[in-house]
Amino acid sequence: MDLNDHLRDIPNFPKPGIIFKDITPLLGHAEAFAESIRALSAPYTDSAITAVVGIESRGFIFGAAMARYLNCGFVPIRKPGKLPAHTISRSYDLEYGSDCVEIHADALAAGERIVIVDDVLATGGTLAAAVGLCQDIGADIVGAACLVELAFLRGRSTITCPLHTVITIGE
Ligand code: AMP
Repeated sequence: MDLNDHLRDIPNFPKPGIIFKDITPLLGHAEAFAESIRALSAPYTDSAITAVVGIESRGFIFGAAMARYLNCGFVPIRKPGKLPAHTISRSYDLEYGSDCVEIHADALAAGERIVIVDDVLATGGTLAAAVGLCQDIGADIVGAACLVELAFLRGRSTITCPLHTVITIGE
């Protein structure tokens, strides 16, 4: 099965010039969704992963399913002000301005073996901040996984842990 066949390009969303990779057709197709979880999880089945860390919001969909597949817990990384208990945060630069990601300070015990997950790797800013956040709380980052890598944006070069991607677009 070619999972790329189950993605849809939406030009000029959310702003002019962006081609948005819409994952909703894949999510709605039982076999494609199952295959995406198998493919995302494949490198980690024998890695004694204790938690999958998903990045808001589409990383929650893949991350939660991966956690069930890998039989481990799930931990959310969220946008500012969403998590109710004590958090730690990391800011990162965008093309214009900056953004921030947060995790509960007690979400991961030191030495937990984790995989960090998002749907699309673009410039890498979001995933790099998530990796930094998990390093800050002492987790053992086994790897990061994204369903889609927009390779022409060179986001991979910003990620300091092993990176697994399933669908590569452009060079
Ligand atoms: P970045 O920090 O630039 O790597 O952007 C990654 C985040 O933005 C991910 O959470 C993606 O869901 C989202 N994203 C960025 N570019 C796209 C795109 N072309 N299509 C779909 N999602 C995108």
